[in-house]
Amino acid sequence: MTDGELHERAQAAAARAYAPYSNFSVGAALLDRDGRVWEGVNVENAAYPLGICAERAAIGRAVSEAGRRPGDFEAIAITASPCGGCRQWLVEFRLERVVYTDNHGRIVTHAPDELLPDTFVL
Ligand SMILES: [Zn+2]
Repeated sequence: MTDGELHERAQAAAARAYAPYSNFSVGAALLDRDGRVWEGVNVENAAYPLGICAERAAIGRAVSEAGRRPGDFEAIAITASPCGGCRQWLVEFRLERVVYTDNHGRIVTHAPDELLPDTFVL
């Protein structure tokens, strides 16, 4: 699967987002090393901090449903620039590539450590 195809999967997934407060639907498509794609969307809540971003939803699915772990993923495509908290997740799960629509509408690709340099590690 190409990064472009992965991004198309993310765009299609965004239609399922639950974003009644922001009306900002985000989709993510996470490609694991077995070729499986895990989709996620943002799920908002009236108590705003309780919402979850699309990329964390996708990673959560892969961990919950298949026991995936850091290093099991090749790439993720996201229909928006990942927030700071999600960048920490993307570093933790050691993705090779993060493909996303940036704030200018361009599809760009970065390594997670480019998005969050000098990352916190435990
Ligand atoms: Zn986020």
